[in-house]
Amino acid sequence: MFEYAPAPESRAAAGEIASSNGHFIGGEFVGSSGKEALKTVDPSTEEVLAEFAQGTEEDVERAVKAARDAFGPWSALPGAERGKYLFRIARIIQERSRELAVLESIDNGKPIRETRDVDLPLVAAHFFYYAGWADKLEFASYGPDPKPVGVAAQVIPWNFPLLMLAWKIAPALATGNTVVLKPAETTPLTALRFAEICRQAGLPKGVVNIVTGDGRTGAALTAHPGVDKVAFTGSTEVGRAIARTLAGTRTRLSLELGGKAANIVFDDAPVDQAVEGIVDGIFFNQGHVCCAGSRLLVQESVHDEVMESLKRRMATLRVGDPLDKNTDVGAINSAAQLARIRELADAGEAEGAERWSPACELPSSGYWFAPTVFTNVSATHRVAREEIFGPVLSVLTFRTPEEAVAKANNTPYGLSAGIWTEKGSRILWMASKLRAGVVWSNTFNKFDPTSPFGGYKESGYGREGGRHGLEAYLDV
Ligand code: NDP
Repeated sequence: MFEYAPAPESRAAAGEIASSNGHFIGGEFVGSSGKEALKTVDPSTEEVLAEFAQGTEEDVERAVKAARDAFGPWSALPGAERGKYLFRIARIIQERSRELAVLESIDNGKPIRETRDVDLPLVAAHFFYYAGWADKLEFASYGPDPKPVGVAAQVIPWNFPLLMLAWKIAPALATGNTVVLKPAETTPLTALRFAEICRQAGLPKGVVNIVTGDGRTGAALTAHPGVDKVAFTGSTEVGRAIARTLAGTRTRLSLELGGKAANIVFDDAPVDQAVEGIVDGIFFNQGHVCCAGSRLLVQESVHDEVMESLKRRMATLRVGDPLDKNTDVGAINSAAQLARIRELADAGEAEGAERWSPACELPSSGYWFAPTVFTNVSATHRVAREEIFGPVLSVLTFRTPEEAVAKANNTPYGLSAGIWTEKGSRILWMASKLRAGVVWSNTFNKFDPTSPFGGYKESGYGREGGRHGLEAYLDV
């Protein structure tokens, strides 16, 4: 086997990272009304990257007011004019994509190959896509003159910081809303850099506001009586808390929560392609993916063959420096997430499942977890039921398509699923039976701004992306 020479991307490409950061409110970078500051670290080294403000209720109040003041003029602009700003933002994102990709990798821990080739192209594509809708809303089938909802409060997680921002902000702005967005406390840097891009694009003040902070800031923002719409992506637990707070109010809510997707491999599937899909399904982005294919369902007759190929392929995964262009699996985003992954993996072993990881040397500092697979898993094991949100795959078997459907649907979640078979009729039959918002056939983790994304059951409600994604921000 060839040795890989290091292929490091330049850290300097991320540009200057300010050591201390405030919020972005009313088009200005402003300090917090409170004194508390949080730190964000590079999860691959634990080095502190920057301090940022813990948003207070007063900061949230200021941001909501700025968004409210901006709403009238912004929503009154002709759609084509709003579209021009979004096209401009999309082009600037493309121009600054290397800088943003490096910054995202440093703050999040994900490999540069993914931020460069997946996250950033999708971020730009979302802004281009919704820019195109801005002057065509009357053709979106939501009535002849659809109106925006008003001020949107948007709370996003740390797994795709800039991409989740794009999923939230692009459709909101295209439809004439203004926003206050709170990034996750472990990954605030690209949202603050995006605020600079809003200024560069000349976006009117107050249309986009960014308030940083932890869950307390998120709670203050989503409970604020001055917002008309809340859009949340994150854990089912926090999603439930927000739904409880908003019950009985007029605030609209869309939730994109967790998942425990089944990736189903039939005996007629091309094994090599399926193995690539399994690897992409669970090891992409360290498995920090709500729609990750974390439960592999393999038809019993090909179980041994698939597992042998999968283990051989896993042994070639390169875990390490996120800025090395050869890296496949980067760092776990935070110490807390690493602890959660370890706890669930240990529970899998304690409950009797068989654990396997390839031999791989993990760096001595930072947060790391080797790609792991559990076999002999039963449907009652915690590793088969709970969202691990890490590079951990649980393998179950089935004999018939009916059993595959029953096992795939045996989860409180319903975000995504994958089917690997050469029979088109079986794909269609399975897709109609699976209770999942997205069903991929002979592929996995494919995203496109034109296609709606969202869940059933405890995976949430509402759709993001595509024409359907406009509905969440229109008063229909
Ligand atoms: P959270 O749901 O806590 O975080 C998501 C966002 O919500 C963050 O911006 C967070 O802020 C904010 N938040 C936290 N508490 C509140 C609150 N009470 N009201 C409003 N907003 C709040 O996810 P975690 O980061 O704690 O991850 C825990 C687990 O959740 C993971 O192990 C994974 O299983 C799941 N998860 C699922 C995601 C998905 O895409 N479906 C994404 C992230 C996590 P802050 O980051 O500052 O706490």
